[in-house]
Amino acid sequence: MKAPGCTLLVDADDTLWENNIYFERAFERFCELLGHPSMTPEEVREVLDGIERANNRVHGYGAENFGRNLRQCLERLATRPVGTGDFEAVNRLTGRILDHPIELIDGVPETLEHLSERHELILFTKGEAGEQRRKVERSGLSGYFTHVEVVKEKDQHTYERFVDARALDVEATWMIGNSPRSDINPALAAGLQAVFVPHARTWRLEHEEIADGNGRLVRVESFRELKGLF
Ligand SMILES: [Mg+2]
Repeated sequence: MKAPGCTLLVDADDTLWENNIYFERAFERFCELLGHPSMTPEEVREVLDGIERANNRVHGYGAENFGRNLRQCLERLATRPVGTGDFEAVNRLTGRILDHPIELIDGVPETLEHLSERHELILFTKGEAGEQRRKVERSGLSGYFTHVEVVKEKDQHTYERFVDARALDVEATWMIGNSPRSDINPALAAGLQAVFVPHARTWRLEHEEIADGNGRLVRVESFRELKGLF
């Protein structure tokens, strides 16, 4: 167990609460709406992935942006005339993502309580600022964190800038999250320690081979296990 006084940067979506499953459900319904005569859902998904990669760079993440991506995907792939009713149906799908009650991942509140007694906790999440902050408020978890940081992208420079801005000691700072691409690899590249907490339904665009942590990376199987580590 680490000595008290570390700074723990904690990811939110699919680390503290469920998130990607709602996007997956919306995608399944989108495929029904599209009703493509020959493309499989996997083939539709690949087209959507391309649209998402391009748009995320410009517009960022979140349900509203996902709605834009679905509308573009619909326009690109529909084999029938697409009208206002279709776009309204897409908006309802993304509205459901935004309205969904927060489902905390097993063991999260008690684990955060333990961690916050010994260490400084900072919520470090990427996405659309308003959307992410509303989730933090609705989760009831904000009291465990001394600060909430919402960034547009989590790359190596984001971590370096954040560490500099808050004058954090990299050797006592850990990033905890489910995404190899956004939580683990860039934090390791910035010189931080990392704890990988895998989630079975992590968004496919967050997958990446995990870098060699040179002893700075720990993998746990559940959020609860952090209690034994910190
Ligand atoms: Mg996440």
